[in-house]
Amino acid sequence: MVLGAGLAGVTSAWYLRQAGFEVTVVDRQADAALETSFANGGQISVSHPEPWSNPSAPTTIVKWLGRADAPLLVRPRLDPALWRWALAFARECLPARCERNTRAIAALAIHSRQCLRALREQLSLEYRQRSSGILHLLRDHHELRAGERRSASLNALGIRTELLDRSGCERVEPALAGDPDELAGALYAADDESGDARLFVQELVGHARSVGVEFCFDAVVTGLHVDDGRAAGAWLTADGERRRIDADAVVVCLGSHSPELVPGGSRLAIYPVKGYSVTVPLARPQCAPQVSLTEESRRIVCSRLGDTMRIAGTAELTGFDLAANPSRSGALLAWFERHFAGVGRSEAAEHWSGLRPTTPSNVPHVGAGPLPGLWLNTGHGSLGWTLSCGSAQCLAELMAGRRPRPDFPFLA
Ligand SMILES: Cc1cc2nc3c(=O)[nH]c(=O)nc-3n(C[C@H](O)[C@H](O)[C@H](O)COP(=O)(O)OP(=O)(O)OC[C@H]3O[C@@H](n4cnc5c(N)ncnc54)[C@H](O)[C@@H]3O)c2cc1C
Repeated sequence: MVLGAGLAGVTSAWYLRQAGFEVTVVDRQADAALETSFANGGQISVSHPEPWSNPSAPTTIVKWLGRADAPLLVRPRLDPALWRWALAFARECLPARCERNTRAIAALAIHSRQCLRALREQLSLEYRQRSSGILHLLRDHHELRAGERRSASLNALGIRTELLDRSGCERVEPALAGDPDELAGALYAADDESGDARLFVQELVGHARSVGVEFCFDAVVTGLHVDDGRAAGAWLTADGERRRIDADAVVVCLGSHSPELVPGGSRLAIYPVKGYSVTVPLARPQCAPQVSLTEESRRIVCSRLGDTMRIAGTAELTGFDLAANPSRSGALLAWFERHFAGVGRSEAAEHWSGLRPTTPSNVPHVGAGPLPGLWLNTGHGSLGWTLSCGSAQCLAELMAGRRPRPDFPFLA
């Protein structure tokens, strides 16, 4: 039984079925991918394995404090989970820990992109994907020098990148020619991709159904069923009735809500980090970027999804509050209007917010849970789309008693 039908849950169900398991997926929504996997930045960003918790994060965060347009907003509150998470985050900023976490994420991300490509080919999936890479935009010479160092580290991890000057950027993405701001260059990760995560998940649901996976929507999971110290199913409320579904194994893929269902769940240290996106219909598609972009200094990502642009970013530590904040999502729209003036129909933009299920190290929990029969595939934070296929494929390997390929700290 897989709890949750977002990116993590549906990919888990698919690979578990491929490994020979009978699978039922349960979700409280009426369809798959209606929560955090609904409208993310669209990037398959293997070239961004560096966790948010890195040695320069404390200085950057202090610099951003109090700035309305800062990529990070923290509302200090009496929330023990937030303070525990913040302390653990600070510990993960130590150089040795950051390096270890970067290696783990890079290994899983490389594997995940291979799994995604194989799956796309096998099932002829169509999810407005593009395989034209990601340009990480560097605005000044300081960023360019940092980009040089980053490119060398990424290449050493097996992630192919090259540094481009402005004319190189414009060759890769001609739409950048009209950018009014200084552009010192970009780190170009040609192997990266982009695509609509919601479409991908919903397409995969169709294929999973056709090979026998069952989906139980509109069902709220209220607790685990534990029998003799083993996870043996879950309690659900559906159509006003409480019932139990038994299972030999339970996989938790509930995004930011995962800790609520796992015994001793606070130890998972998953905190909801809120982000926003705007999806802008294109007025002049021929002038809009085709290549996915990352504005490094502002942590904004931008992906072409068919005849729309998806612009996403910002991080807020404000608990489970999903309320709209027009000044935050408006800043994303303003960024797009400034750099690609007149290209989109801003008045028709769709605003969205979601909660990234984020661990302090940015390393997700994949593998055995704290009880026999309980498994985890959760806590993918800002890289849940990038890491989805690989995490799920590895989880299925572990549950089938095999050793997954990537060098990653799977939970045993
Ligand atoms: C603004 C933003 C931009 C992002 N951009 C990118 C990007 O460009 N690239 C990238 O790789 N990642 C990106 N991400 C991250 C990525 O979207 C997430 O990591 C991913 O969607 C998490 O998937 P999930 O399956 O773990 O969680 P979810 O998609 O939230 O799935 C969890 C599921 O559990 C269900 N559920 C929860 N509680 C219960 C319950 N009690 N009973 C029944 N069902 C329940 C929910 O309905 C939901 O369907 C972004 C995230 C945000 C917010």
